[in-house]
Amino acid sequence: MDISATNATGVLGGTFDPIHTGHLRLAWEAKCRLQLNFVRLVPCHLPTHRESPDTTAKHRLTMAELACIGVPGFEVDNWEINRHEPSYSVSTLLHVRDRIGPDAPLVFIMGMDAFNQFSRWHQWQTLLGVAHLWVAHRPGNRLPQPGTTEHQLLQQRQGSADQLQLRPSGHIYVHETTALDISATKLRQQIAEGITPRFLLPDAVWDYIQQHKLYGYRNEHTAND
Ligand code: ATP
Repeated sequence: MDISATNATGVLGGTFDPIHTGHLRLAWEAKCRLQLNFVRLVPCHLPTHRESPDTTAKHRLTMAELACIGVPGFEVDNWEINRHEPSYSVSTLLHVRDRIGPDAPLVFIMGMDAFNQFSRWHQWQTLLGVAHLWVAHRPGNRLPQPGTTEHQLLQQRQGSADQLQLRPSGHIYVHETTALDISATKLRQQIAEGITPRFLLPDAVWDYIQQHKLYGYRNEHTAND
């Protein structure tokens, strides 16, 4: 089968407040290993009262778009943000499935931390009928414990990269992801403290943060920032 002729698509959801190199590398490794045609980055909706005044949904969306410029196959999907209410992942994946057709592989990208809670997710069984799971395993992550639904799921559904490429949904692939110890929480703290985050996120995103004085950025950073 000519995989490049399909709509094989990955989906990475997140707050992206701000988007950083850890997110991008995670999505890139899934894209390359599974030869995905597209990866859709889906900034999630946050209730208005939870967003700080300077990081609105519009800023998070724009930063994600800036991060994807020039990255082949990366696209930002504003579907969750435009719904003005929190969406379940299963709804987002059904929306993407509608767009790519019933036969194209659809891969939901998540970390092992998230997978460990997977059986508590809304309609998780349905989700596995709509998409595969790409689970990024990093040093220090806890593997699902024997006796848990997640452990059982891995035993029953763990698939090869080939299986994920050739079938539309239903398999789980665990990938040893390059460890990048970057979190949006830490970045927000560093920016507020006057520490330059250059190279932890794309230059265009850092420029945008400075321009809009997000996350408590002040002009106290050095002239080369
Ligand atoms: P915050 O610190 O605000 O909670 P975050 O940096 O963890 O944010 P999210 O937007 O919550 O980012 O994460 C979206 C997805 O990206 C999640 O599946 C998360 O596991 C994954 N992720 C976040 N940071 C990294 C990283 N450094 N390496 C690999 N995956 C990451």
